[in-house]
Amino acid sequence: MTEFLSNLKSVIRLRSLRARIFLIILVLGIVPCILVRVTIVSDYESRAVETRVSAVQNQLTITANHLVANKYISALTGRADDYTGSLDVMDAEIEMLSNVYEGRIMIIGGNFKVLKDTYGISEGKTIISEEVIKCFQGVSTSYYDKNLGYIELTTPIADTTAEGGSGVIRGVMLTSISDDSIISMADVLGNNAFILEITIIILVAALAVILSRFLVSPITTLTGRINAVKAGYNNLLEPVNDCTETEHISESFNKLLTRINALDESRGEFVANVSHELKTPMASMKVLSDSLLASPDASVEDYREFMEDITSQIDRENRIITDLLALVKMDDTSSQNLKPVPTDINELTELVLKRLRSIARKQNVDVTFETKRKIIAEVDEVKITSLITNLVENAIKYNHENGWVRVSLDADHQDFKLTVEDSGLGIPEESLAHVYERFYRVDKSHSREIGGTGLGLAICRKVVLMHHGTIDLTSKEGEGTRFVVTIPLSYIADAK
Ligand code: ADP
Repeated sequence: MTEFLSNLKSVIRLRSLRARIFLIILVLGIVPCILVRVTIVSDYESRAVETRVSAVQNQLTITANHLVANKYISALTGRADDYTGSLDVMDAEIEMLSNVYEGRIMIIGGNFKVLKDTYGISEGKTIISEEVIKCFQGVSTSYYDKNLGYIELTTPIADTTAEGGSGVIRGVMLTSISDDSIISMADVLGNNAFILEITIIILVAALAVILSRFLVSPITTLTGRINAVKAGYNNLLEPVNDCTETEHISESFNKLLTRINALDESRGEFVANVSHELKTPMASMKVLSDSLLASPDASVEDYREFMEDITSQIDRENRIITDLLALVKMDDTSSQNLKPVPTDINELTELVLKRLRSIARKQNVDVTFETKRKIIAEVDEVKITSLITNLVENAIKYNHENGWVRVSLDADHQDFKLTVEDSGLGIPEESLAHVYERFYRVDKSHSREIGGTGLGLAICRKVVLMHHGTIDLTSKEGEGTRFVVTIPLSYIADAK
């Protein structure tokens, strides 16, 4: 029900594509139809009036000629000494004409007096209208009053045989005829056109329903298939190849799904790795405490020794959690997470090396530092410290007794370059591509033994990327490793 209501709402607001297509087809089909009907009917009406006027005018001109020939006007005005015809015959002709055209004919004399009125009510009255005056000047006029429903015509009664020139106007015939027959014909035509129009509207509406459904059907199919993916019936979208647009949408949707699935998989793998890494120190602690509990005769020295082991496992657990937190924090690569300030890179490196020299000494590893110039760069001090620490610590940890570690700094006008080289174990070629992965270690047991978490290089890579820099690794197993980090001197903010 609610779905129906929301569908109805979107149709009313024309947010539905189907509703839009329906409306466009309907408007395109119906508007011309209405226009055609209206113009045909009104055109018919004006043409019918024109035809009628010219037919009646012709007939009236013939009668006017008869009236002249019979000196009808003179006879009526009493000046017809030479009256040749019969008044009755002419009266009958005028009467017949008015009957034929269902109208009224008035004969107006030269002094604008009505000499004859077929209705018999205006005889003797004076009619001075614009049309009558015009007609006395020899111009026939016609006027259609649509509201009152009549056509008025004036016809000059011109005497072409009169002395002193042709066309002396003896009088005017003022004729009014009803438009009933025209209107009734127009009504019939209008009704027929209206029925035709309604039929066309129904047909166009049906066509609009069918066409809009047909045109939107690929999108409807696509929505159905996306819903099937959403409901979990399918892993990937079954492509809708009905039209290029839906084909492209299906393709893009499937690419997106593949990416999401891959992301889901890697997240699952990460969680599994984290659980495994956190479980290992716990399992060691459990074994240590169980064996202590199982030996009631254990001495104080035994207890001390076991407790030291447990403490080192707790330290390890702590390191993993600290590294994980650092990594997760850096997953948010937004600029708010990075606080770049102008930092003396030489001083920073010196400080890190000072801290790490004690570990190096324990392993008899010689750490040297060489810098070509003073470098001030806009970096996040904490993050760059952890980058240098991780690289130098690895160089010391994965080294031989009496080995060496060389740290050097250089810069050009754009970037500074940090190089960390060692004479250590090196990294096998097949592992080079994996060392930046979380929890990846070349030699798992050795790394654990020396306190590695497998997260150090992942952190390094993140820090470098956050500073829009690059990290290069070259290594040869058994010979040593070299990391070269290049970072811009000025921090480039991400484009929003
Ligand atoms: P870990 O905490 O185990 O050191 P890292 O992410 O820092 O984890 O390093 C990943 C792996 O890469 C290490 O386990 C080690 O096998 C290898 N590795 C890193 N740096 C060096 C290096 N300088 N020399 C040799 N191997 C290295």
